Amino acid sequence: MDSKLPNVGTTIFAVMSQLAAECDAINLSQGFPGFDPDPALLDRVSHYLNSGKNQYAPMTGVPALREAIATKVKNLYGRSVDANTEVTVSDGATEGLFSAIQATVRPGDEVIVFDPAYDSYAPAVTLAGGTTIHLPLAQGTDEFIDWQRLSDTINERTRLIILNSPHNPTGAILSASDLDALADIVRNTGIYLLSDEVYEHIVFDNRSHQSLLMHDELWPRSFVVFSFGKTYHATGWKVGYCVAPEALSVEFRRIHQFTCYAVITPVQHALADYMQQTPGHYDELPKFYAAKRDHFCGLLKDSRFRFVPARGTFFQLLDYSAITDEHDVDYAKRLTREIGVASIPVSVFCESEPDTRYLRFCFAKDDATLEEAADRLCRL
Ligand code: PMP
Ligand code: GLN
Repeated sequence: MDSKLPNVGTTIFAVMSQLAAECDAINLSQGFPGFDPDPALLDRVSHYLNSGKNQYAPMTGVPALREAIATKVKNLYGRSVDANTEVTVSDGATEGLFSAIQATVRPGDEVIVFDPAYDSYAPAVTLAGGTTIHLPLAQGTDEFIDWQRLSDTINERTRLIILNSPHNPTGAILSASDLDALADIVRNTGIYLLSDEVYEHIVFDNRSHQSLLMHDELWPRSFVVFSFGKTYHATGWKVGYCVAPEALSVEFRRIHQFTCYAVITPVQHALADYMQQTPGHYDELPKFYAAKRDHFCGLLKDSRFRFVPARGTFFQLLDYSAITDEHDVDYAKRLTREIGVASIPVSVFCESEPDTRYLRFCFAKDDATLEEAADRLCRL
């Protein structure tokens, strides 16, 4: 059969997690916590599983959860959104991203992403008939996006720009002035913005997450996508949400209703309760994950890897160019087989082969796991 995605293989997350399982390796590849959600949240899920909340949820999401999301968005980002018309619960951030792309991109449209870019963006653009334009992230400076280059790239075919902050895999984060620079560029254009903010709460060193929801000029053209998986240590639940102005949400929902219709009911009820009862849960996350980052980086300080501690997310990039000039995909697989530590090669997130040599390691694990992994990495 002729493939609709001829250049797409199996996602690296499935490949590396499977290899890690086959080799019984420590899996620091695919990003998921090595610990469970708060027992109080699990208790709410169990409660709803056992009290009849097992049939289809409303297509747009359980009302109490949409209300809780709207309250959070108001408290954290100062944006008043209508829980009925501007918040949609999605099947993880992945479906939110997919539906937003299908809602906006038409054949012939161009969509700009920044490499290294999360691997689900470009295939969704291709399926919508669009063309993905890959711009590199600015290298070697504090800057994240080369705004001049973005400005030079947009044209009348540009339909959508996809942003991701905190950024997977580099950990880079957008600043308030970055959002202003973006506003200058898209002003007087019909370009939409899709902002992937799944790591909104994992930002370190007293920096703060700048959501597109905070920006009055950007908000009217933005789909902003989040994931409960990252925030509540529950990636396997695949529950996320998209916040977008009503006119955009209408189009988003046209797609969402036919990609998954609705999302797992008992978990939505449980999340609604938990968000209400424990609103401060996410305030602890920066400290919690910064301690893990610092521990992991500290253990590696005498290794041959070079690195700058991540500013956000639960990933640490390690530059291995002092060890070997092997291609990162080969090296990641070899390390999994030979020393039993699995990671993600960064080149798979890039359209053109990067000249840097990085592997990405997930540090959302308990201390003993990080210590054993670091011990093995230090022997290289
Ligand atoms: N975007 C980014 C940048 C991610 O890292 C991930 C997965 N961790 C997703 C989207 C997908 O999130 P979900 O698992 O909620 O679908
Ligand atoms: N987002 C996770 C990561 O970056 C993986 C999600 C997935 O497996 N699709 O590792």
